[in-house]
Amino acid sequence: MPHTVQVAVNNATLHFDKLYTYRVPPELESKVPVGGMVLVPFGRGDKPRMAVVLAAGESEELSARVKPLYDAAPESACLTPDLLRLVEFLHERTFCTWYEAVKTVIPYGAQYRPVLQDGRPVLQKQLVRHTQPQYRLAAPLPEKPRPTPTQILAVQLLRDGPLTGEELQQAGVSAAVADNLVKKGVLEKEQVDKTLDLYAHIPLTNETITLTDEQQAALDALLPALWAGKPHAALLHGVTGSGKTLVFLELIRHTLELGRTALVLVPEISLTPQMIRRLKENFGSRVAVQHSALNHTERLLQWRMIQQGGAQIVVGTRSAIFAPLQNLGLIIIDEEQEHTYRSESSPRFDAHDVARLRAADSGALLLLASATPSVESYYRAARQDRYQLVRLTHRYAGQPLPPVQIVDMRAEAAAGNPEDISQPLADAIRENLTNGQQTILLLNRRGYRTVALCQDCGAALKCSSCSVPMVYHKAQGQMLCHYCGKTIKPAPTHCPQCGGKLLYTGFGTQRVEEELENLFPKARVLRMDQDSTSRKNAHEQLLARFAKGEYDILLGTQMVAKGLDFEKVTLVGVLGIDSLLFSQGYRAYENVFSLITQVVGRGGRAEYPGRAIIQTVSPGHPVLQLAAKQDYEAFFEEEIGFRQLCLYPPFCDLCMVGFSGEKEGPALAAAARFSAILAETARQNWPRLPMRVLGPAPMNVAMVKDLYRFKLTIKCRNTNDFRALMRAVLARYGEEGLPAKAAVTLDFNADGDM
Ligand code: ADP
Ligand code: ZN
Repeated sequence: MPHTVQVAVNNATLHFDKLYTYRVPPELESKVPVGGMVLVPFGRGDKPRMAVVLAAGESEELSARVKPLYDAAPESACLTPDLLRLVEFLHERTFCTWYEAVKTVIPYGAQYRPVLQDGRPVLQKQLVRHTQPQYRLAAPLPEKPRPTPTQILAVQLLRDGPLTGEELQQAGVSAAVADNLVKKGVLEKEQVDKTLDLYAHIPLTNETITLTDEQQAALDALLPALWAGKPHAALLHGVTGSGKTLVFLELIRHTLELGRTALVLVPEISLTPQMIRRLKENFGSRVAVQHSALNHTERLLQWRMIQQGGAQIVVGTRSAIFAPLQNLGLIIIDEEQEHTYRSESSPRFDAHDVARLRAADSGALLLLASATPSVESYYRAARQDRYQLVRLTHRYAGQPLPPVQIVDMRAEAAAGNPEDISQPLADAIRENLTNGQQTILLLNRRGYRTVALCQDCGAALKCSSCSVPMVYHKAQGQMLCHYCGKTIKPAPTHCPQCGGKLLYTGFGTQRVEEELENLFPKARVLRMDQDSTSRKNAHEQLLARFAKGEYDILLGTQMVAKGLDFEKVTLVGVLGIDSLLFSQGYRAYENVFSLITQVVGRGGRAEYPGRAIIQTVSPGHPVLQLAAKQDYEAFFEEEIGFRQLCLYPPFCDLCMVGFSGEKEGPALAAAARFSAILAETARQNWPRLPMRVLGPAPMNVAMVKDLYRFKLTIKCRNTNDFRALMRAVLARYGEEGLPAKAAVTLDFNADGDM
């Protein structure tokens, strides 16, 4: 009987992602289990397309229209049942296409692509080469012709031993320079395997950890759940500096003793180096890393190591939640309230949800940790008993939390100080400089932009394809659209609308850096933002230098607010928080409270007490007042009342349906029709489903890349029934041909906009 498979293809759309049946040719018979990656002829012209097998069967008679597969990847590349389950979960919960889910759970390097071989379409691995060039010194540099500075640099760098091409490049020596030196006989080059142990330079210290009484009590409260091996969730609410990491380390130790594995998530790449260091020092080569700053090969090699059981601990950012660890016993989500755990592109998943699924499947302990838990998580722990609540209320070094002073920037301006740095903050920085202590200044990213305002008509210079102002980038001397990447170079001097003169204003890290240089010419200022840390490992290197005391002031965006642990920081300043305070979305206050608490917590962590200064134009704002007191409980009481009153999570789920189309009218009409279909279908089939629909309304950014954008916001319960309803509505929407007017995306994570 002929064998058949049902596959999901790459590049399907939400409206058009059904399973297609193919015939398995005899020569591929053994290679196509469920979860296998295959190449299929698709559409008119039988173009080769990637696909994944989701079901297999046999069929008595096949119509001649069922085509045979082109090729199949080796069985070793097949998705394991665990990974398939994650794919199914993403597909069911986030309304992504099947193949998008596949591409999310396995790294790029483990994926395949179609190529032509002897005119036949076949599969090829995305990554074929796992080697890289390595250079070492072979002979002294000749004095004639006179060596260039980079040549001298290359030789200096290699004096201590061989380096890879990439390492040389990072130090400023290009491959061309190195290869040229090889030609001269100064260097030798060979191809070596890329290294697997990315952090081999971190020594195993075997530190013995002695927990404080409070930490021990927290550990003791959590261990029974770990030992029970049943799914369990807990929230560790510990003030900044209370030693949550130490509790993690002990929990991991116990997990490994049980012969099980552990997964640790951190919210952003800048926080991975510290966590990796702690884990490596304690557990050595049993640690693997998964995050997007690794190159494809590194990521693949780490992934393979995890899959083959070579690592028992994985640390990484959001997508590390898909790491193929077997026998998972512990999942830690540090700084659990961070928005970075929610994906903003398809599949729009929340790492919390995937973690809960994995914990349920493998009987693991899921531990969420934070000094400022999300309102949703704290509600589940403190009000609903769905999470065990464990607290750490004291800082390890016994220091009190830093006192916080609020500076009224309106009063500053009225008193004739037009600068971004207020007088009290400047005084405090000066004092710190004199005492040889360090300062962290947080400049919230939303205030980070310099825009061009017309002095005549008052309009901001906007992108021609998106309804957002363009942002000035000093280094390139250009205006850049942060949504579509369009640039104007050189930056214009006159308004394109009325010809008036443009004034470049704003409030950015670069400008504050200049102000600091004027105020404190001798201070050593380290600026950290996306521009200064785009190079690989730049974070780690810059922070290490700050830790060593090579800088006095660390000035940066949100990335300086969280997790960092430096002894000599005794002053924290918060600049430009107002734009965040008044931003849209129901999480705005929570974000402000959390950001301030986090950054204030960076100070006074060791011997010396710390203090903090917040600059604002609304000093009386209750959220700022509570943040200054660092009273999480009081903040939670306020906020949960607001959420209940206005019906926001955790009292409902939000489903945002986004529409984008080339023509404004038809796109809006399609959104309205979606809403009508929704109402009709719900009335007919799910009359008792609780639901409130708002819109259609334009999105906050109404146009991106020349597409008009609208949204429906649905307050609902994200249940099987609700998702079934949405599937039925999407199907109808597709049948009526509306996707041509406006493409639809669904997002259960969005806070106000997509
Ligand atoms: P949190 O993550 O809760 O803000 P950390 O885990 O970073 O706090 O701990 C704060 C500091 O106190 C770190 O430098 C940590 O090494 C130190 N520390 C906390 N608990 C202990 C302990 N039991 N023994 C030694 N050092 C500790
Ligand atoms: Zn644009």
